[in-house]
Amino acid sequence: MKTMTRRELIKLFGNAAIGTGLLGASNLAFAKQSAHIVIVGGGVGGAAAAKYMRLLNSDVRITIIEPQPQYIFCPGSNEVVADFDTLETLTVDYNTLKSRYAVNVIQDYAQEIDYTGKSLILAKGDVIHYDKLIVSPGPDFKYNAVEGYSKELAEGDFPAAWHAGPQTLTLRDQIKSMPQGGTVLISSPVDPYRCPPAPYERASFIANKLKHTNPTAKILILDSKDDFIFHDVYMDFWKKEHGLGTDNARIEWVPAKNGGHVTKLDTNNRTLTTASGQTLRGDVINIIPPEMAGSFVRMNGLVKGDWAPINSKDFSSKRDKDVYVIGDSAAADPMPKTGYIASNQAKVVTKAIQAELTGKEIGTPFITNNCVAMAAEDWGMTVAETFRYAGNDRAYEESYVMSNPTENPYHRHIRAEVAKNWQRTFRKDIFS
Ligand SMILES: Cc1cc2nc3c(=O)[nH]c(=O)nc-3n(C[C@H](O)[C@H](O)[C@H](O)COP(=O)(O)OP(=O)(O)OC[C@H]3O[C@@H](n4cnc5c(N)ncnc54)[C@H](O)[C@@H]3O)c2cc1C
Repeated sequence: MKTMTRRELIKLFGNAAIGTGLLGASNLAFAKQSAHIVIVGGGVGGAAAAKYMRLLNSDVRITIIEPQPQYIFCPGSNEVVADFDTLETLTVDYNTLKSRYAVNVIQDYAQEIDYTGKSLILAKGDVIHYDKLIVSPGPDFKYNAVEGYSKELAEGDFPAAWHAGPQTLTLRDQIKSMPQGGTVLISSPVDPYRCPPAPYERASFIANKLKHTNPTAKILILDSKDDFIFHDVYMDFWKKEHGLGTDNARIEWVPAKNGGHVTKLDTNNRTLTTASGQTLRGDVINIIPPEMAGSFVRMNGLVKGDWAPINSKDFSSKRDKDVYVIGDSAAADPMPKTGYIASNQAKVVTKAIQAELTGKEIGTPFITNNCVAMAAEDWGMTVAETFRYAGNDRAYEESYVMSNPTENPYHRHIRAEVAKNWQRTFRKDIFS
């Protein structure tokens, strides 16, 4: 798609918006005639919604509300933890969305929805009118699920590193400077959480690094679950590469049934206590807390329990048909919470909005998820899933094909290459 000219931008957003250089810092600047699609969150779901809305419709006005000037992708952040990639690789900005797709980006927090007036109130006080509101602010973490843990500790010496950013670097540095023979404790949460294989991928990458830099170190995964995706593939990898099941195992996995669920953190002694009453000391402690919908979603009455219920045909909220919730905050079972899914949900929503604007039928939504994960640079795995709308607002019907440890070892190599390429192309798909 070509870059928008100044004239085309003015047509979409109005003269005043261009004049301020802010492209519509005030909604008064917008032309009144075309529909205004406002998006909360410029992460995977939100940015994909903006781009694909524009590809479907060159006339609508599109505004993203996002507090950060840049977005850091989580896919690829386990590579940063293990120190074989950098956050810079994963960081993108909003310039292409602004210039090529004429998306107005306002750097602020969305705070409150006025459902009656169809407007959004921002933290700095601006009020933005919307015709359709797409909400994709990602998840929040339940820090208090582990006694003694908190957001402040996650931002300090006990990183969760489940939003890529400074915590990713803290965790990386802690692993690098761990004493010889030290222990890494990883607490893996109950379902659902973003990127189901990622705790096990992280543990594997850390083990691969320590094998060379700190060969007597150990990694203990304390799990609040009894199973996880790619379980058999990871077990096979840990046995073959890290001595799982032997006295010298570099990596161990403790499921919930064996007391893996972590209940308490003691920061002074650097210990975790588990449901079975065991207390374990970690030189590095990585607690991945359980999740819930982002605070914007919870504060605006869009949730039932932890997540936002949606009408499955178009992801409109059960609370208001002009508000759509996608990405990690949505209650979209059986879909996993992944970026791949968030971006495809965005495509369903934008098609539904376009159908409504043009008086057409939206068709039967069909969503795919091609989840790729790695155990090592040459040891990849995939699950290819499809989700078909089952009609009458029932849950989507799922079918899938998944890697298993008995397949031809060459496939692991191919899948690792697929995983690396997928990350690159996915970033491009959303942000360029
Ligand atoms: C370690 C790790 C590895 C992963 N690997 C993969 C992978 O390989 N493949 C895959 O598909 N997925 C992967 N994921 C999952 C993927 O990152 C998420 O599922 C995806 O980012 C969800 O998109 P989202 O739009 O819901 O949230 P996000 O991408 O987190 O975007 C949310 C945005 O909303 C903004 N926001 C929050 N509150 C507000 C507010 N009040 N107002 C305005 N903006 C707000 C935030 O600043 C953020 O930019 C991984 C996740 C992790 C943690």
